[in-house]
Order: sequence, then structure tokens, then C-alpha cells
Amino acid sequence: MARRKYIVGNWKMNGTKDALGEARAIFEAALNRQGVDVALCPPFTLIGPMVAEISDAVVGAQDCHAAASGAFTGSVSAAMLSDAGAAVTIVGHSERREAFGEADSDVKAKAGAALGAGLGVILCVGEPRDVRESGGAVAHVLAQVAGSLPDDFDPARLAIAYEPIWAIGTGLVPTVADVAEMHGAIRGALAERIGAGAGQLRILYGGSVTGENAAELLSAGDVDGALVGGASLTAAKFVPIIEAAA
Ligand code: PEP
Repeated sequence: MARRKYIVGNWKMNGTKDALGEARAIFEAALNRQGVDVALCPPFTLIGPMVAEISDAVVGAQDCHAAASGAFTGSVSAAMLSDAGAAVTIVGHSERREAFGEADSDVKAKAGAALGAGLGVILCVGEPRDVRESGGAVAHVLAQVAGSLPDDFDPARLAIAYEPIWAIGTGLVPTVADVAEMHGAIRGALAERIGAGAGQLRILYGGSVTGENAAELLSAGDVDGALVGGASLTAAKFVPIIEAAA
């Protein structure tokens, strides 16, 4: 089954309203690229302004709380993200797993809440460097996938982002063969779990993707797009990645 390429920018904790011009230039460029879906995940504070001020923007969040509402100071629920105009949310990013102690069970609850609120989900998994070096990367990531996926989900509304932790923000990237092996293993595990629907689910690669390496990474087997951090902050760096997917 043909899957449309999906290029997602994760702005992390970067950007104020001054950055909306970059987002506008990115979505204007994306409009001309048939066959590629593009989304930007800015900080919570920019979701509303980005949706309101940029026509055709597909805007996502970087996290959500698993509960619908309640005494969770500082948190934002999936329904609130939807209300603000978000179409999708990242869950389980390694920076949240590491800095906020999020376990697979937390990520699973967040993914379920997001789908329940009508959002798409980009669910992140990835191994640390020592696990890669000891040869345990595939087993580690498949365990994360098994523990983080909701029990029941529409594969057309959920993407998995494979992001080796040691590749995020470092300029290091796995070999194309290693990326293809991991994506193939994830697809195989999904097929065992959900059957033919696994062919609909998009598996993105993330970790130091740039305009220079995007075409090669995107050509690897079972790579359906990219989750991009640093290189998504400006149109000059992000548009070449979109073009590489087109
Ligand atoms: C990310 O944080 O999801 C990411 C992939 O970052 P970078 O592209 O900067 O490595």
C-alpha cells in the first residue's frame, strides 16, 4: 500500500510570535508539494496563533496530558489541543521520557487520550547509545512499541517515529541499513499485532535530519517520512527536507 510521505517539524521550546513568518514560508512551500504531508509542532503557545494566521497550516503539539481535565497544574489535555486547533500531537519524545520520567505506560495513556480527542498521534521510540552499541537496539525499540501503543487504534491516525536518542541534536545519524532494519522490524511487529493495517501506518525517522541527508534516509525501506528538530526552525533548512520527500 502506498503511504504518503509525512514530514513533521518539532520546534521543541523554541519560537515566539516572531517565528510565524518562518512557519508561513514553510507551509507556503509545502502547498506546492503534492504527495507530502507537512506538519509543524510548535510550543503550546504558538498553536492557536499558527492556526489562526496561516491558512493551510497543519499544526501539532509536542505532548499532552492523559487526563481530560483536572488538577494537573501546567499541563494541557488533548481536548484542549484540539480546541486550540491542533490536528496531531507527538507523544513519548525521548526528551520527555528522560527528563520527565515518562514510561511506556504513560505514553500509551497519552496516545489513547489524543486519539480519543480526535487528534492524530506521532509516537516516538528510540534507543540510547549504549543499547545500540551492545546490539540490543531492535529488541529495545520493539519493547517500547509494544508497551506504548494503545490497545486499539486506527493505523491511519497514528505514526511511529523511530528516533535513536544518540542521533537527536548531535549531527550523528545511523547508517541507512540500520534505519531500514529498524523500520522493517517495527513494521513486522505491527503486522503481527494488527495484521494488514500495519501497511497503513507511517514510520518516520528522526535524529539529525538535514537537507543534505534527507533524500538518502527517506529512500530507505519502510521510511515514510521524518521528524525533524533543529532543521525545522527555519524555512531555509526545512523546505529542502520537504522537497527531498516530494
Ligand atoms: C527531535 O527532537 O525529534 C529531533 C529529531 O531533533 P533533531 O532533528 O534536532 O535531531
